Amino acid sequence: MCGIVGYIGFRKASSVVLKGLERLEYRGYDSSGLATVEPSGSLQVNHSVGRVSNLLESLSKQDINGNLGLGHTRWATHGRPSLANTHPHTDCSGKIAVVHNGIVENFLVLKNDLMAKGHVFTSDTDTEVIAHLIDQYIAEGQDFQSAFLKSLSVIQGANAISAIWEGQPDIILGARIGYAGGLVVSHKDGETFLASDLSAMASFSDNVIFLDDRDVVVASSNGIRFLNLQGEPIIKKPQILSQSLDVVEKGGHRHFMMKEIMEQPQAVISAMRGQVDFNKNKLSIENFPFSEIEVKEFRRIIVIGCGTSLHAAMIGRNWIEEFAGLSVAVESSSEFRY
Ligand code: GLU
Repeated sequence: MCGIVGYIGFRKASSVVLKGLERLEYRGYDSSGLATVEPSGSLQVNHSVGRVSNLLESLSKQDINGNLGLGHTRWATHGRPSLANTHPHTDCSGKIAVVHNGIVENFLVLKNDLMAKGHVFTSDTDTEVIAHLIDQYIAEGQDFQSAFLKSLSVIQGANAISAIWEGQPDIILGARIGYAGGLVVSHKDGETFLASDLSAMASFSDNVIFLDDRDVVVASSNGIRFLNLQGEPIIKKPQILSQSLDVVEKGGHRHFMMKEIMEQPQAVISAMRGQVDFNKNKLSIENFPFSEIEVKEFRRIIVIGCGTSLHAAMIGRNWIEEFAGLSVAVESSSEFRY
C-alpha cells in the first residue's frame, strides 16, 4: 500500500520525510519520491524506482536543505512502475508537487480537457491531473487553497491527496475523500507532520489528528487548520498517543503479518463504510454503472486476483455461484512488487 509523508518545520525536511517513508516500506510499494521547496525558493523533485534506499542514495549526492517536504511510496494503479510515473507529480512549470493515494476515476476526461487547454503531461498516472488542475485554477486567479479545493470538487473516486506549491512555501495542503487510506497530522513546537499512516510519524509527536472522509487540512509550521470540502472551517480534536512507536507500528501484535491478518475485519468494514448498510444488509455503491435489472441479467462474471487476493476471489466465486447461480471464472495475475 502506498504512503504519504509530509513535513514543515525547522529541520531538513528530506531526512524527516525519508525516515517516514522507510517506516512505511513494510506495506509494499514499487517506487518512491520526494519534493522539497529549497531555500532558493524553488521546488526540487527526486524520484527513484525500487527501494527507498535508492532514493536515499540519489539524494545523498545532492544538496537538499528545504524545510518543507512531501514524499510518497507508490503502489501503481495507473501506469507501470517507472521513474516517470513515480510521485510526487508536478504541473507544467514544476512548481506544484502532488502525492496521492487512491484512484481519480474520471482522470481521462480531466486529462483530455487539460491537454486541450495546453497542459503537457509527462506520466501515465491519474495523479498528474491533480497537479495540472491546481495549476490551471491558480492561473485563473485562485489562491493555492481555493485551487486545491476546486480540484477536489472535480475529481471522482476515493483519494488521499497532499500538495505543496513553491509560491506558498509555508503550507502543506492535504485532503481525504472516501476510503483510499487515511491522513493523520500532528503539530508540536514549530513542526508539523502529515502522513498516511501513524507509524510514519509516531516517534515525532504524541498529539495527532486523523482526517475523516471529506476533511481538508492546511498545515504550517505554526499550526494546523481544518476545513470541509466547501472551505468552511471545522474543529477537530487531537488525540494523545500513549503507545511507543514499536507498539503503534505492529498494533500490539508480534509481527506485521499477524497485524494485517488480525486487522482484516476492520479493514473490510473501513473500506466498505458509507457503501454498506449493515443493518439492512444492503450495498449501495455510488455511480455503480449497472441497474439492479441489468445485474440480474449477468450471465458470466470474471473475478481477478493477485497474490492472496486470488484466494479471496475463489471464495467470492463460491458465494456468487451459490447465491446468484452464475458461472464465475477466476483469473490470477501477478506482477513483481518490492
Ligand atoms: N493512482 C495513483 C498511481 O497510480 C496512486 C497509486 C497509489 O495509491 O500509490 O500513481
